[in-house]
Amino acid sequence: MALKFFNTLTRTKEDFSPINKKEVLFYTCGPTVYGYPHIGNYRAYIFADTLKRVLIYSGYKVKHIMNLTDVDDKTIRDSQKENKTLKEFTEFYTKEFKKDIESLNIINPKKFTKATDYIDEMVAIIKKLLKKKLAYKSKDGSIYFDIKKFKNYGELSHLVLENQKENAGGRIVKDEYEKDNIQDFALWKAWDEKDGDVFWETELGKGRPGWHIECSAMSMSNLGDQIDIHTGGVDNIFPHHENEKAQSEGSTGKQFVKYWMHNEWVLVDSKKMAKSAQNFYTLRDLVNKGINPIAYRFWLLMANYRTRVNFVWEALEGAETALKRLYGLYMELGDSIGKVNKEYQKKFKEFIDDDLDTPRALTVLWDVLKDENITNADKKATVLDFDKVFGLGFENLKEEKIPAEVEKLVKEREQARKNKDFQKSDELRKEINSLGYEVKDTAEGPRLQQL
Ligand code: AMP
Ligand code: ZN
Repeated sequence: MALKFFNTLTRTKEDFSPINKKEVLFYTCGPTVYGYPHIGNYRAYIFADTLKRVLIYSGYKVKHIMNLTDVDDKTIRDSQKENKTLKEFTEFYTKEFKKDIESLNIINPKKFTKATDYIDEMVAIIKKLLKKKLAYKSKDGSIYFDIKKFKNYGELSHLVLENQKENAGGRIVKDEYEKDNIQDFALWKAWDEKDGDVFWETELGKGRPGWHIECSAMSMSNLGDQIDIHTGGVDNIFPHHENEKAQSEGSTGKQFVKYWMHNEWVLVDSKKMAKSAQNFYTLRDLVNKGINPIAYRFWLLMANYRTRVNFVWEALEGAETALKRLYGLYMELGDSIGKVNKEYQKKFKEFIDDDLDTPRALTVLWDVLKDENITNADKKATVLDFDKVFGLGFENLKEEKIPAEVEKLVKEREQARKNKDFQKSDELRKEINSLGYEVKDTAEGPRLQQL
């Protein structure tokens, strides 16, 4: 069976057939490095990673590029607030992002591209658009994309009706805006006092790029004019991806992306988790509660990427308990690795090939572990095979024997806490730390983690 993916462009599930049979060209809109991403953002990267793993599992070579937005309205605003240069500010959050990616067992893309490394390429695209009269310069020197001149504007978001386009007078300089505010958008923003020392002197004048042109330039420079897959969260469909598509196709005259794929939101109390709504959690919040970030990955895999999920701590804790049970069952299988069970593998593949149906694929994993008719060695091989897609880290599991000395100290510390002898409990915590363990107090009692 062929791989099937839901394509936002056509709003249908389509058979996947890459442009170049040998290598899939894949671009993911990466983070704006202006703060710690929230766990909602990580759904976008876990989704892209799962998709990449499914492609690799199916035998494809994948060339995957992810950008880092290190210049835009938000990075400039917040670096100024913190009195830092744009570079030192964005480099700090880039490092933190890379650490998070690792803790979620996300395979690194072939390349992380920084927007500020591609200014020349952006200028070249804008010059082409000006030449083709798809863009124009405004009085203040900024350059805008003329959406009425591009006949397919709105094809991706399916939202721009002819009359909306007619009403779409005016221009928008901001990077982010809503669907009811469709207007000509900025490709190049002429320098303004608020930008401080962030500007480039180019043939287009002194200024900086708009957010959307950054991804067009990074995608086309690294992967060519036409690619197979472009991913992001659904909020990227408009305006970001609609605008990327318009700029790229406007400049080359060719289809930019064959399959546009988008993950749905993580909600909190039925509202989208967002930095601006102040209803977000970061991976640090999870770790501070003693929760393994992989449990978050596992929780997300229990839902299809195209359904909204409502985040509650109890659900995540439940996922962690289930994951530990899976780990436990796996650890009981012994050391030898046999053969992958073909029947289960067939079922598993059917599910993941069907637009990444990870919830059903996970049921196959449980079935394998519970099946009494296959040997432990074959179970082990099958679990490791499925984990190439799930990325739950089974291959890294090691028998973790907590030293008796540490266990004894934890018990003594619990007793000290019961006796309200906090000085002693603090001393014991330090002693536990010195032996390479961290103890976290949770509602269910103390939890131990290796440092
Ligand atoms: P940003 O750094 O704001 O560009 O967002 C990074 C990625 O996270 C984009 O692909 C967004 O679409 C995605 N995203 C933002 N908020 C959420 C959310 N609550 N749930 C799922 N994805 C999200
Ligand atoms: Zn992008």
